[in-house]
Amino acid sequence: MIGIIAAMEPELAEIRAHMTGVSLSRVSGFDIFRGRIGETPVAAAVCGIGKVAAALCAEAMILSCGVTHVVNTGVAGALDARLHVLDIVVAEQVLQHDFDLSPIGFVPGHIPACDGIRIPCHRGLSDHIAKTAAELLCVSVHRGDIASGDQFIHTEEQKARITADFSPLCCEMEGGAIGQVCAMNGLPFTVIRAISDGADDGAPMSFEAFTEAAAHNSATALIAALQALPAEVLL
Ligand code: SAH
Repeated sequence: MIGIIAAMEPELAEIRAHMTGVSLSRVSGFDIFRGRIGETPVAAAVCGIGKVAAALCAEAMILSCGVTHVVNTGVAGALDARLHVLDIVVAEQVLQHDFDLSPIGFVPGHIPACDGIRIPCHRGLSDHIAKTAAELLCVSVHRGDIASGDQFIHTEEQKARITADFSPLCCEMEGGAIGQVCAMNGLPFTVIRAISDGADDGAPMSFEAFTEAAAHNSATALIAALQALPAEVLL
């Protein structure tokens, strides 16, 4: 069973609409919907904003549904100048840009529980989702790192700092936490995001204007990827 987690309702709505044989359970305050997308068994939930909510939801889903893989879908702010609004990013690795033990000798972003800064995503699942997105959508599909933190990034200073430290393609607020939970449980995971804004001073307005369309792109690619999911992709 594939676990699907989105931070906000508009990011999950289309995915839920494509599920068949749906049953609902409530775990740790989360509505977890179980069913199928095509032939693929899935569990799907809205986790809420930020790393703590995302981590709690991922753990609740892992313990209550026995998911074998987890995918985080949604929208993100672009950090790399090559990215445009509505483009897709499928993560190679995730990291937490606000995790900072540098005063006691660690490099910024080093997470002791993960033994490093970057948490690798599942290769087969990530490649399959990226390939499906590229075939289906009329936007660019990028591969690289995604940085998470408990901040809505909206200034050049924040962008410059995160880019200088980690060189990620985009920023959001959940993927790095879901990645950590999965890594600590020994479960494969990946993150697909579509760009809603440029993480700059126009980000609040752009986020407002483009979240629906960006969420649609991310969900559309993920739905199609799950509808035709070769078994070997999950190995
Ligand atoms: N309107 C929401 C809050 C959205 S916070 C509410 O009322 O609850 C922004 C969400 O979109 C987060 O889930 C985050 O993952 C993603 N996101 C999009 N652009 C972002 C940016 N520039 N910085 C950080 N997160 C961003």
